[in-house]
Amino acid sequence: MIVSKFGGTSLADARQIKKAAAIVRQSPERSVVVVSAPGKRSAEDEKITDILISCHALASEGRDIVDRFSLVRERYTAIAADLGIATDLAPVLEEVERDIRGGADRNAVVSRGEYLGAHLVASYLGYEFADAAEMIRFADETTIDTGATDELIRKRLSPAQRYVEPGFYGAHADGRVQLFSRGGSDISAALIARALGATVYENWTDVSGMLSADPRIVENPAPISRVSYREV
Ligand code: ASP
Repeated sequence: MIVSKFGGTSLADARQIKKAAAIVRQSPERSVVVVSAPGKRSAEDEKITDILISCHALASEGRDIVDRFSLVRERYTAIAADLGIATDLAPVLEEVERDIRGGADRNAVVSRGEYLGAHLVASYLGYEFADAAEMIRFADETTIDTGATDELIRKRLSPAQRYVEPGFYGAHADGRVQLFSRGGSDISAALIARALGATVYENWTDVSGMLSADPRIVENPAPISRVSYREV
């Protein structure tokens, strides 16, 4: 089986999600899909993760989040409508907004970007949503309990099923949500791939291949056909 991870830019809006879903459907082996929260749609746009971080910061200073949070609500509502799926995220969005106002923990708040996005992608693909909090177990703020994580993943994900899992967070044994550092969905997917003994772990992003320079700065940079992890 293949574990496929899609980054935030690849899931930034319904058009991007449709592209990612088409890739997933190309191979029956792609049975576990790990997603980041919706990212930037353009250079000026904001990542959902950054908006949630700022909502939490505003609330902790006692300031109003109504305008900032409406950006979160609008983004998910528009994606669901554009994908034509019936998933009603309104109650979850309301709960998240209430939690932020109520002083919820930053980890819990920020993780909702991936959580909500994974629900949308799962519903569009017709795959089951499998929550990272049930599978990725932290031993402390910065360390994964790898033994428990392997066991929880193998128990939760059956080989015959297809799943969408939110990246970027897990939980402590007492249920408290814990985030990885930024960009951490890559690690979430790697943990799943390892626990399930996947034949391939694919990490999809919005630019094909690896280029010798940033294509936004250098015109037509040459692709690099082979590269080691160390060089990357
Ligand atoms: N959404 C998170 C971030 O912006 C995690 C990730 O994309 O992997 O860092």
